[in-house]
Amino acid sequence: MILNGKEIAAEIRAEIREQIDALKAQGARVPKLAIVLVGNNPASETYVNNKLKACAEVGIEALKLAYPTEITEQTLLTEIHRLNSDETIDGFIVQLPLPDHISETTVMRAIDYRKDVDGLTPENVGRTVQGLPSIVSATPKGIRELLARYQIRTEGKHVVVIGRSNIVGKPIAMLLMQRPYLSVPSMSAASLGDATVTICHSKTRDLKSICLTADIIIVAAGCPNLLTADMVKDGATIIDVGINRVDGKLVGDVDFEHVAPKAAYITPVPGGVGPMTIVSLLQNTLQAYHEHTR
Ligand code: NDP
Repeated sequence: MILNGKEIAAEIRAEIREQIDALKAQGARVPKLAIVLVGNNPASETYVNNKLKACAEVGIEALKLAYPTEITEQTLLTEIHRLNSDETIDGFIVQLPLPDHISETTVMRAIDYRKDVDGLTPENVGRTVQGLPSIVSATPKGIRELLARYQIRTEGKHVVVIGRSNIVGKPIAMLLMQRPYLSVPSMSAASLGDATVTICHSKTRDLKSICLTADIIIVAAGCPNLLTADMVKDGATIIDVGINRVDGKLVGDVDFEHVAPKAAYITPVPGGVGPMTIVSLLQNTLQAYHEHTR
């Protein structure tokens, strides 16, 4: 079965739009997001435009703050402090990558975690690790939501995560191994967890044997055709995070054609994890708004 991220994301966008319409009907202000863009990297510009469009669709007010490549780290930090204390802004993101002369770590540390709707500050990551309420970064949050909406349980399952980046591999591994931190009776994203997780990376020996023991495989390596049919047991769930361009075509990290017949559930690329990532940013903005206006 195909895990249709595009369809689920549309469902969630409709839910967010409903909530924002209700706020408007009560005469309340709508959530406001700022997106900081430094320089003119074409891929970053596309991502930012997609985020602005997604916000407009659900009624979130979004503001693009563009700065030249030459901006100094100090000036950017001053802008971030200004956004931290701007009462009209509920959340903001700094589009990565930043130019080489600016430290991404320093910039991330400067963001107030309550406005960190990308969930990348050390405070939010630490809170996630400790199972405390936090803003969870968009891609892992989207994957968890996709599993929940298809009623795919993770309790006691062996999840293999390929990739150990701070934005995907590490946080999704952490989320799925947690004791569910909210006690919710029905199947919801917050009730997922309790998995046994193995994290693999480029130095892992015998990736195939490890994958063959997995009930769920999450691949986030940026390596086309990394996961092939001989590495997957029958009935496994496959989540393909990869985005690669091969011969002008967008593909993931999974040999979809041969793996799909063996899998119980599988995400396509495009149309799987990608749309869930963008919608998670919208959910995070709404979450930050509610905390801010509480
Ligand atoms: P990174 O490059 O930061 O991390 C890739 C990870 O994969 C590393 O841990 C690396 O190991 C591991 N890896 C690479 N090659 C292999 C291999 N042959 N065998 C085992 N492990 C391997 O990437 P990101 O996490 O940022 O992104 C991963 C992919 O997901 C990319 O294609 C990216 O474009 C995509 N992506 C998609 C998103 C979406 O919304 N769909 C959002 C974010 C990312 P090591 O640490 O040893 O180098």
